[in-house]
Amino acid sequence: MNLEFTQEELDFQKSIRAWMRENVPEALERVSALGNMPTKSQQQQWERCLGKQGWLALTWPEQYGGPGWTATQRYIFDIERAMAGAPPTSPFGVAMVGPVIYTFGSPEQKERWLPGITSGETLWCQGYSEPNAGSDLASLKTRAERKQDHYLVNGQKIWTTQAHWADMMFCLVRTDPEAKKQQGISFLLIDMKTPGIEIRPIYSIDGHHHLNEVYFTDVEVPLENLVGQEGMGWTIAKFLLTHERTTIAGVADSYYALARMKQAIEDVPYYTDKPSARRRMAELEVELMALEYTNFRTVAATDEGKPFGPESSGLKIKGTELQQKMSQAMVEMGGLMSLAWDSPMEVGNESFNNAPRRYNFLRACTIYGGSNEIQKNVLAKMLLGL
Ligand SMILES: Cc1cc2nc3c(=O)[nH]c(=O)nc-3n(C[C@H](O)[C@H](O)[C@H](O)COP(=O)(O)OP(=O)(O)OC[C@H]3O[C@@H](n4cnc5c(N)ncnc54)[C@H](O)[C@@H]3O)c2cc1C
Repeated sequence: MNLEFTQEELDFQKSIRAWMRENVPEALERVSALGNMPTKSQQQQWERCLGKQGWLALTWPEQYGGPGWTATQRYIFDIERAMAGAPPTSPFGVAMVGPVIYTFGSPEQKERWLPGITSGETLWCQGYSEPNAGSDLASLKTRAERKQDHYLVNGQKIWTTQAHWADMMFCLVRTDPEAKKQQGISFLLIDMKTPGIEIRPIYSIDGHHHLNEVYFTDVEVPLENLVGQEGMGWTIAKFLLTHERTTIAGVADSYYALARMKQAIEDVPYYTDKPSARRRMAELEVELMALEYTNFRTVAATDEGKPFGPESSGLKIKGTELQQKMSQAMVEMGGLMSLAWDSPMEVGNESFNNAPRRYNFLRACTIYGGSNEIQKNVLAKMLLGL
């Protein structure tokens, strides 16, 4: 494997870096610098801006609106995006339901839904988990009964990220309660403004509202919103989960977090133990480089047209563990400055003041996208043959 970028790739990097410098809004950069989450309008404005360039659906085939980049170019783009202080793209449209629609959808569904995703106009959320169906997703109970010209949906989803932002939900529902668990599930696209949908917020430990419960009471969903065939939901869900995990290692955003950490230490003139802080940061950087090189292996394989397999589980485990470790280091290095996280006053240094918010949120990253214990089961089964 050749790890040097070609001249063409270096030119590409230069042009992306220049574009980011011109186009990442200052307010957004500041949100990232403090380790916070953008508002809905900040996120959507940014995604529309990328959409105008044709840079939103990076992995998609060109015929559906992808830019036609190699995996290496996408990697370069992601690093430049993160280091410029721009947030990652919301995964639900571009990384999840989009590939499902262009792979399993009808021509009418492709025409109706894909343009809203590539332009950043339509926001999506993922309706998979239920109170008794998380890791054991196939136990889901939300029922969709087929009526003459619609499905009648009743049930409840939980932990639905950005349901309160979303125009549409892609949802796993049970269409055949008599069939074996996995076989009775179907994949529906649901307009979030349909009567009978109630969204209740869940405030998480970082103090923010990302998550929701979503209740369905006699919600009528047109039959044409079924993707694939009835009973095909499990096949589609498995296809989609691999896509979800490819983006979850978060190498680029971890490099950004590391750069902010270094900056915060340098910005505090009275920080007394810089040598041990630097040692700790160097250790984290070495771990991050190891993750990056593992990621390079998958980038190289993708460029050669090989499919993304169970190694995505390894990237998810290592990437999320490292995100947690880094956020913990930031809080510990901030010491007393990190105790001020819910205070309106700056105490010493803003980055350290905000560090506990990110630390608290990132407790969840080893759970969402399929918990790390489940990923270890996947590796044991698929790679080790246990
Ligand atoms: C911040 C956040 C955002 C989320 N966003 C969404 C979203 O947008 N849409 C959505 O549908 N869902 C979302 N989820 C839900 C997420 O997918 C589930 O929380 C996750 O799949 C785990 O399911 P659970 O919470 O029911 O835990 P459980 O499945 O009950 O697991 C509890 C514990 O048992 C362990 N465990 C379970 N089964 C096994 C096993 N077979 N072997 C070993 N260990 C096991 C798990 O690893 C975990 O530690 C989100 C969750 C979080 C925290």
